[in-house]
Amino acid sequence: MELIITIHPDADANHIRGQLQDMGLWIQNFESGSAGHAFLSHAHSSQANIEAVRTIDGVVDVLCPSSTVPLMESMQGAPCTVNELSIGPGQGPVLMAGPCTVESEGLVDEIASIVASSGGRVLRGGAFKPRTSPYSFAGHGEQALTWLRTAADRYGLKVVTEVMSEQVVDRVCAIADLVQIGSRNMQNYALLRAVGARNATVLLKRGRAGTIHEWLSSAEHLLNAGAAGVVLCERGIQSADPNTRNLLDLGAVALLSHVHQTPVIVDPSHALGRRDLIVPLSRAALAAGAHGLLLEVHPNPQQALSDGAQALDMDTFQKLARELFVQPESTND
Ligand code: PEP
Ligand code: MN
Repeated sequence: MELIITIHPDADANHIRGQLQDMGLWIQNFESGSAGHAFLSHAHSSQANIEAVRTIDGVVDVLCPSSTVPLMESMQGAPCTVNELSIGPGQGPVLMAGPCTVESEGLVDEIASIVASSGGRVLRGGAFKPRTSPYSFAGHGEQALTWLRTAADRYGLKVVTEVMSEQVVDRVCAIADLVQIGSRNMQNYALLRAVGARNATVLLKRGRAGTIHEWLSSAEHLLNAGAAGVVLCERGIQSADPNTRNLLDLGAVALLSHVHQTPVIVDPSHALGRRDLIVPLSRAALAAGAHGLLLEVHPNPQQALSDGAQALDMDTFQKLARELFVQPESTND
């Protein structure tokens, strides 16, 4: 929360600054005008007691500018609930996994069985795929939605899948527990409004050049349109370095989790684009405060129809899930 604190022109600005700092506020000189001197306290200050600030000798006024994301702020500290599954502050981390693309009924069933037995709660898989090249495989569409839902139901999993266009919003919302807005569509406001209007619970991926403010504002668009809840997903932002597909911004994850206290998960698969780094970065994501992981897996990554280079094979996935998501049995009995 930001505060604008105006002090009397004759007051001792340094003394007041010291008192504000003692209250845990991070402050900067904002303006020095005829009406007096004003301090701006930063959003990452500790929770301000506005009444206590008002009583400081020399303070004339304290303004609390209204937020640009009031609906997001009103949900601060609360998890997002997806058909009885809670994701976010105060909850244990949630594992979501599945293939990049739902390739066939058999394959998604095989993967769902392993995701469920490894402690996963949500099955991912693309039916409508955004592909850079128009010649790349773009998913099996509606048929894949049915395969995904059937496999998830068989093993007691929730479904997350991407909606790419307004034309298919109804069909995707009908089968998905968590409706994914992909990175390329983070600022497609018509799509955000259409999905929000279905009262959907949304997984909002960060645009590859999206700032945190733009990302939160897109979440606000969803809530404003009627979305039941939003889980943010960090999936890497564009960088100049070709060694990893994107740059995984764990600073943003820590900020959103610890300061904004909003549900946020990490997709290391799309962030890195290479399977050899998924395990260490999954650990790092949870250490930074992520409330869950979204992982791409495939029984035979070399033959995957999309994103094989970043898919974990099922053995590596199971080991990672055991390490990060399965609580060790208690030894006190
Ligand atoms: C995906 O999760 O299937 C996907 C395409 O991811 P992103 O939108 O982050 O590129
Ligand atoms: Mn993918």
